[in-house]
Amino acid sequence: MNKQITLAMGNGGEENNELISKIFYKAFKNDILQKSEDAAVIHGGELAFSTDSFTVSPLFFPGGDIGKLAICGTCNDLAMMGAKPKYLTCSVIIEEGFSTRELEKIVRSMKNELEINGAIVVSGDTKVVPRGSVDKIFINTTGIGEIQKKGISSNKINKDDIILVSRDIGKHGATIFTTREGIELSSELKSDCASLTHQVQALIEAGVNITAMRDATRGGVSAVLNEWAKQSNICIEVNEQSIPVATEVEGVCEILGFEALNLANEGTFVLAIKKEDEQKALDILHTFENSNNAVKIADVTGQYIGKVLLLSSYGTKRFLDTPTGELLPRIC
Ligand code: MG
Repeated sequence: MNKQITLAMGNGGEENNELISKIFYKAFKNDILQKSEDAAVIHGGELAFSTDSFTVSPLFFPGGDIGKLAICGTCNDLAMMGAKPKYLTCSVIIEEGFSTRELEKIVRSMKNELEINGAIVVSGDTKVVPRGSVDKIFINTTGIGEIQKKGISSNKINKDDIILVSRDIGKHGATIFTTREGIELSSELKSDCASLTHQVQALIEAGVNITAMRDATRGGVSAVLNEWAKQSNICIEVNEQSIPVATEVEGVCEILGFEALNLANEGTFVLAIKKEDEQKALDILHTFENSNNAVKIADVTGQYIGKVLLLSSYGTKRFLDTPTGELLPRIC
């Protein structure tokens, strides 16, 4: 591994995985951590527990801000384990000189998003550091949720499952990049940043047989599918044509040479569900504005274990690898 920490080590992809496994997993090793789920399942399978830090730049972007992101990020990780978010902590590190009004605006966004999730902040911490020691504000949230459906795990996806994506992909990554660089490509482009609690609750209440769920944040859908293929020892065969990508995101990808599958999302999730529940799950997702273009994107096979295969519309096949390199730092 590199002797110094590089930006690529925070990319949600290959280098990030290496850093986590060789330093953190090595030291903290235990059965719960080793499962590598979106949230730890604790207390006899009754509670989900997760933490996330937010460093996004710019702080305010079309579709959200760091406050909304800080609540969605942690609540979504809890929701991905079939849990209802309940209690959160909020820790902030603020740079000397930061605007009080902006801080209030950020906290209002957090309050609003907490209400959507039905969760409350029950503990917190505030640090102010000298100018230049941090860029404006960093936020950490940790959350506990009550598991509504036990047994959801990205370690047991099999050939009886199919893979769905809840909406068109790449909006958060494309939005942050264009906003930061001051590129005005389309006024339509805004982050997908949103809480997923209600979609997940509706799927659970309808009895959809969910095997696994994961929000496609850093590293995008590519990272999720590759993690799943390895964790569950399966091959995931993706029909490239079926992946929904908005035209404005396609435009950003074409101009900047990105792949939508690698771009971060903050309100988009991938689901592995039993084949027979495809229509039921899609019908439910389609009733929500945030997932009204949910669609099946892949099948699970045993062809190349641990790999993701991308089938193009021309009939060609290629492996879709875990993203590498310095994708886009300060995305969340
Ligand atoms: Mg996640």
